Amino acid sequence: MRKDIRLLSLSQLESHFETLGEKKFRAKQVYQWLWQKNAHGFSEMSNLSLSLREKLEEAFHISPLNVDFYQRSEDGTIKNILNLFDGNKIESVLIPTPKRNTGCISSQVGCSLDCLFCATAKLKRMRNLSTGEIVDQVVSLDKQSRQFTGKPLTNIVLMGMGEPLLNYPNVVEAIEKITSPSGLGLSPRRITLSTSGIPKMIEKLADQNLRIKLAFSLHSAIEVTRNKIMPFSVKFPLEEIKEALLYWYQKTGSIITLEYVVWKGINDTEKDIDALVDFCKIIPSKVNLIQYNSIGDPDFIPAEEEKIQNYVKKLERNNLTVSIRRSRGQDIDAACGQLSGKTQKE
Ligand code: SAH
Repeated sequence: MRKDIRLLSLSQLESHFETLGEKKFRAKQVYQWLWQKNAHGFSEMSNLSLSLREKLEEAFHISPLNVDFYQRSEDGTIKNILNLFDGNKIESVLIPTPKRNTGCISSQVGCSLDCLFCATAKLKRMRNLSTGEIVDQVVSLDKQSRQFTGKPLTNIVLMGMGEPLLNYPNVVEAIEKITSPSGLGLSPRRITLSTSGIPKMIEKLADQNLRIKLAFSLHSAIEVTRNKIMPFSVKFPLEEIKEALLYWYQKTGSIITLEYVVWKGINDTEKDIDALVDFCKIIPSKVNLIQYNSIGDPDFIPAEEEKIQNYVKKLERNNLTVSIRRSRGQDIDAACGQLSGKTQKE
């Protein structure tokens, strides 16, 4: 049986080449074809001899993702539907702005969490994505970015489908490949991992010393409210999450982005704001108020602008950092929490 060559690390590839009687640097060339140039077949590897390509063909296969189709939003955001080898589909999003081109990538097929306001949560978690499937999204977004904007991808957010910390080993390995100079060579400071908050895994990630940024989906600093809208979080008390976030800060020195949506009648009162202020006074962080993207559930209605401004005012009065993230790609269901495979071929 031929093996998936992309399951091998560079050093594994190098030892394989040694057993073939090939030079070590050939392994690096192959690695670059796989992880930098997005080669979909050994025949593309033009700096290798024909006989070496044939040897590789006999021992390995490459199964890259391919874009099924994409949709382009009025604001330039592009949503891709990607086919996986087993018939599953995932989504990735390119968000071009004048200053940066950000790729939003998925970590799982579906999601096992149950955030009531999120479209992806309505899907079952089918499986974790492999390292190759995660890296491929980045490589293909980079290609797309160059094609549409003439510039490379500059930033990555792990904010697509799935909970990245529940696919820990593959996500970490993918980040290592994306940042490696033999891969895409992207700076880890330009990668943000967003989590719903799994304390043990946040600590583990801090120990991993990847130098990436962390975002935490808080949405309410009042435990009962948070548990209502994110039922799985009863298993992860806010106190434990706070400890984990403090550990993260001590280990990495990197402040945490708190993602926060304000909904009408759910978390739009002074009491909610005060709880957030208290949270931020303990956790070195900045608040990112995310515009809510409707998924058609009447229980979740975006708060009035005035309520959102109340948040901004009170946070600023307490010398805390807050920004408002306007939504992008809403017209094509490519915005946060809208990735659900709800798509039609044009
Ligand atoms: N599982 C990870 C990453 C995916 S979600 C996490 O929960 O952080 C990325 C962000 O979008 C999270 O902050 C999530 O809470 C938020 N989100 C989910 N549904 C949304 C919606 N309908 N509108 C706006 N943001 C949403």
